[in-house]
Amino acid sequence: MNTTPVAGLISASADETREVGGQLGRTLQLGDVVLLHGDLGAGKTTLTQGLLRALDISAPVNSPTFVIVANYEGHLADGARVPVRHVDLYRLNDAEEIESTGYFDLIDDSDAIAIVEWPERAGSHLPEKYILVEIDFAGTDARSITVTRRKGE
Ligand code: ADP
Ligand code: MG
Repeated sequence: MNTTPVAGLISASADETREVGGQLGRTLQLGDVVLLHGDLGAGKTTLTQGLLRALDISAPVNSPTFVIVANYEGHLADGARVPVRHVDLYRLNDAEEIESTGYFDLIDDSDAIAIVEWPERAGSHLPEKYILVEIDFAGTDARSITVTRRKGE
């Protein structure tokens, strides 16, 4: 497993976290999977808002409380259309439940982009390559954000 740290920074506000998501969103390619680690309220959905906006998605983005997968139609930096899936596994409990959402196919789809909150719910199952974003509390409105790229090799 080849690991490349991309960025580590402190965000001082929700808007700054959206901007970090925006910067990451502008680098995304077809087939990319973004895994978001962080406790409840850390800012995974907030970062996703910036990320989706960078992919030209203007619909309001919330934690998909009752929806496990929210589907959007986005555009990459070069204008190419791309299906974007925002997945939240928080409420799922076991591999069988997760399987029934189509999660394992979804993170294997080379013709789409997947953004996943609580990927830990799927146990040790990880896509072959992914971008890991780790968000940690660092004060009331401060968050430490680390981005790492992993390529299965
Ligand atoms: P999660 O999806 O990780 O459970 P959310 O993004 O839904 O978290 O919520 C994060 C909350 O924390 C929001 O209410 C947001 O406004 C607030 N917040 C305060 N400071 C920050 C920051 N630096 N980055 C992200 N969110 C922040
Ligand atoms: Mg969330």
